[in-house]
Amino acid sequence: MTAPSRTPSDSNRAAIQQLESLERAGLRVIGRAGRSGSRSQTQAVVPTTKSVEAAAPSAHRESVAPEVNVPSDTQQDTLQIIQAEVAACQRCGELASTRTQTVFGVGNPKARLCFLGEAPGADEDRQGEPFVGRAGQLLTKIIEACTLARSDVYILNVLKCRPPGNRTPLPDEVSNCRGFLDRQLAIIRPDFICCLGSVAAQTLLETDSPIGRMRGKLFSYRGISVVCTYHPAYLLRNPAAKKDVWDDMKMLLAKMGIELPKKSESAGRTSEAGGA
Ligand code: URA
Repeated sequence: MTAPSRTPSDSNRAAIQQLESLERAGLRVIGRAGRSGSRSQTQAVVPTTKSVEAAAPSAHRESVAPEVNVPSDTQQDTLQIIQAEVAACQRCGELASTRTQTVFGVGNPKARLCFLGEAPGADEDRQGEPFVGRAGQLLTKIIEACTLARSDVYILNVLKCRPPGNRTPLPDEVSNCRGFLDRQLAIIRPDFICCLGSVAAQTLLETDSPIGRMRGKLFSYRGISVVCTYHPAYLLRNPAAKKDVWDDMKMLLAKMGIELPKKSESAGRTSEAGGA
């Protein structure tokens, strides 16, 4: 397929987004390979270990990903490389031309638990971080009710760009972004993934089952245990469903071996998460 032609301002915009993304990821100086092919110290280094296989762009694979223990530094480097690719991505013309910036993911790259949402909204598009708006604040309360902090987990979305007007992601957009998601998860390699809402659950598990039928059960994605629950934005519109989400969280925590404080304290936590 021929790449759509880009105006100079499109190219500038993509380059600026990529540089901003690298800066957010902690890169301060971009080096240049020496004539002999040696790398300067500051050049982003593409890891050459076995982990590259897990990180390499891939068509979506059905098979279980190999269990790769990626060393911390390599893990960070590889995530930064994927983040830079995401920032430069122009695959979805409409999303690339309307986004303020891409929204890659946030949290602990060594997390046992990842939360997977749908796509950035207006607040996330502005701030460059997933789940920072109203739904995000509710997610933070849910995480805290689970006796965890946002910094203990990793939070990411199916789409890395905001769909205009927060419309539902289109199938082509989901498939354009799918490789990034698989690569992020292959690098983080959490023990558990919690899918928030139907887009996350259906995309990750490649099903069209409704979320109401998927919640309350345990699934597997490439050997990683997956729990599905309602999206926090749905809870804002349907507070009665908070009880179901809390039931799903309790199931997840039990599988993770995390004990909640005794009844009286956890009742407070539950209502905190539910009462937001
Ligand atoms: N909804 C999502 O699915 N993701 C976000 O990052 C914010 C809102």
